[in-house]
Amino acid sequence: MLDSVRVRLTLWYTAVLTFVLVVLALITYSIFWRSTLQRTDVNLSELSEAFLTTLDAEAKDQSGPDSLKQAAQVAINEHRFRDHVFAIFDDAGNMVVSSQDVPPEPAANGGSLPSPSFQRFLDASARSDRLFGKVKGGKDGYRAFARRFSSSGKKYTLVILQSLHAQREMLEEVAETFAWVIPIAIVLASVGGYFLARKSLAPVVAMSSHAGRIGAANLHERLAVQNERDELGQLAQSFNSLLDRLSQSFERQQRFMADASHELRTPVAILRGEAEVALSQQARSQEEYRESLEVLHQEAARLTHIVEDLFTLTRADAGQYPLQLRDFYLDELVGECVHSARTLALAKKISLNLEESCESPIHADESLLRRMILNLLDNAIKYTPEGGRVTVTCNLPGHEYVLSITDTGGGIPAELQPRIFERFFRADMARSRAENDGGGAGLGLSISRWIAEAHHGRLELTRSDSAGSTFTAYLPTGLSPSATGS
Ligand code: ADP
Repeated sequence: MLDSVRVRLTLWYTAVLTFVLVVLALITYSIFWRSTLQRTDVNLSELSEAFLTTLDAEAKDQSGPDSLKQAAQVAINEHRFRDHVFAIFDDAGNMVVSSQDVPPEPAANGGSLPSPSFQRFLDASARSDRLFGKVKGGKDGYRAFARRFSSSGKKYTLVILQSLHAQREMLEEVAETFAWVIPIAIVLASVGGYFLARKSLAPVVAMSSHAGRIGAANLHERLAVQNERDELGQLAQSFNSLLDRLSQSFERQQRFMADASHELRTPVAILRGEAEVALSQQARSQEEYRESLEVLHQEAARLTHIVEDLFTLTRADAGQYPLQLRDFYLDELVGECVHSARTLALAKKISLNLEESCESPIHADESLLRRMILNLLDNAIKYTPEGGRVTVTCNLPGHEYVLSITDTGGGIPAELQPRIFERFFRADMARSRAENDGGGAGLGLSISRWIAEAHHGRLELTRSDSAGSTFTAYLPTGLSPSATGS
């Protein structure tokens, strides 16, 4: 049950609400109690004022030793209230007069002596002119007020006690009200909270069940976005954009698989056909067998090349192609590559020139850079007609090496230029295949671009028109040893 967000939300909500209500009730109760006490104190103070005024007036009319007692009796009769007790004590602490026993109902100590708490209050009152306090007695105790006054040159203390019964009853009523209002409020709020949580989470439940139904077959389906500005709308949008990315990568993957199998099918078909022809003829000359074997070898080489390229790209995609970084000279590597490609160029009577460059130390993966340079040289020679020219330059104009390979081939049509780095893309399928002696399947530039990017550089087609093309690789001088091909 606790696994449900709805239930957890409701429980949290209920717990917080209970805490808030209880704290609120306690605060309200204590404020109520304090203000009641304050009102009582004001009342007692005013009552003492009125009592002493009456006492003063009456004392003037009386004479003799008991004049104060008689005047007090009159004042008591005039100010007698149900819940109040008046008493006057002389300086020695002896009671001069009182409206009733002090404190009332002194059953506990036999009815003659004041209760200990009253005595304590009386003793304390001798030390100040006015004193408020609490005195035990009766059912709910008393609020006591003591005030010093003088009459006929003698000091007395007037004590007024007010029963706290009414206040207690009122506070009990307040507490009782809280006692039933709070549980009802909590129950109602919890039920409401549960339904609110259910209603708010309903779209999430709907989303999750819809998301659960989305698979490879219906990857194009998207979650409905009710309100794109609220949190659920944003969640649905994030989920939809995740689906977008997933379906794009799924499509890319499918296209890659389809293109790859298409590319592999041709050499395999040639291999099979050639083998079948060779086997079907009983008597064949050695020359004919040799020719067949040459075709088989050429196609097998082509197959190997494609499979290797595919493997490289797959590992690069998965971020599993760690760079083997080391220090070497880029100009030397370019020289070696130009030297290797020279035979190819000679066969097509293409002049291959490497322009002088200064020392170019670099920290990079030598074999990957070799592969990139050879790919570019291979393309330049492949797509340049006989008698043409291929020029290689390598400079360091700023913080990165600029390696350019320029040919005098027919160039790439402007509308196809943006696509030449795509996998399996060939600007002129027919021409590429025909002139492609066991070569690539439109993967060379993709791999070359990945190699440049893996070195935090880039590879661009900087120029291509009817006079030829220039491919330029920009390579930083050094990579940190932690860099990988991912
Ligand atoms: P391929 O194996 O077909 O050479 P690449 O990825 O190396 O594959 O090149 C993709 C396409 O770009 C080629 O098929 C070709 O049409 C075009 N291309 C690449 N380099 C050149 C170049 N130097 N001159 C003209 N076209 C080129």
